[in-house]
Amino acid sequence: MITIALSKGRIFEETLPLLAAAGITPLEDPETSRKLILPTNRADVRLIIVRASDVPTYVQYGAADLGVAGKDVLNEHGGLGLYQPLDLNIARCRMMVAVRNDFDYESAVRQGARLRVATKYVQAARDHFAAKGVHVDLIKLYGSMELAPLVGLSDAIVDLVSSGNTLKANHLKAVEEITTISSRLVVNQAALKLKHGTIQPMLDAFAGAVKS
Ligand code: ATP
Ligand code: MG
Repeated sequence: MITIALSKGRIFEETLPLLAAAGITPLEDPETSRKLILPTNRADVRLIIVRASDVPTYVQYGAADLGVAGKDVLNEHGGLGLYQPLDLNIARCRMMVAVRNDFDYESAVRQGARLRVATKYVQAARDHFAAKGVHVDLIKLYGSMELAPLVGLSDAIVDLVSSGNTLKANHLKAVEEITTISSRLVVNQAALKLKHGTIQPMLDAFAGAVKS
């Protein structure tokens, strides 16, 4: 049995064509099904539906053989025990620093001010500001980062941005790009060795589908 860990929403949707290229079709839709283990057309392949940030953990411990996770999530997890053979080029966005429209970020940085930064991506934020030599107090949040500067919780946020509409709607502006984000295939290292005959053809099919 091969178990593939996916999160609901954009990762599931954007992974479907790649699964199809490997001859895998889910038999149920996670948006309507309450099941967390979804059978596929292949008796030897099943999908498990987990929180986006939990995908690396399931794969690390071998509870899933494969998974799809954003670079943002993988960076926070650290990637221990994970083989990352393929950038799937899906769920693309950018990790940015954003502040209120009326906040002068450049001059705060120039003056060496200590910045309060709220984010779900504490590891990425710490690395980014350390590399810039900017002193920050990091405040860990689990969502709705855009709110933090509006109510005085922080001066800045580190968040994922695609269209920028959410920032705009909340009177925020992006001031710095930290990195571009896309989702990667992650594979349990032991599973790849033990189930190589089944997993390698899947990796090849995914790689072919990403190219075309
Ligand atoms: P949860 O909803 O469980 O708190 P999440 O918000 O990270 O987690 P999703 O919104 O499904 O879950 O995001 C999954 C992945 O998609 C993220 O880890 C990131 O790599 C990517 N992503 C997040 N936001 C966007 C976006 N606006 N556009 C494109 N890709 C995005
Ligand atoms: Mg989300």
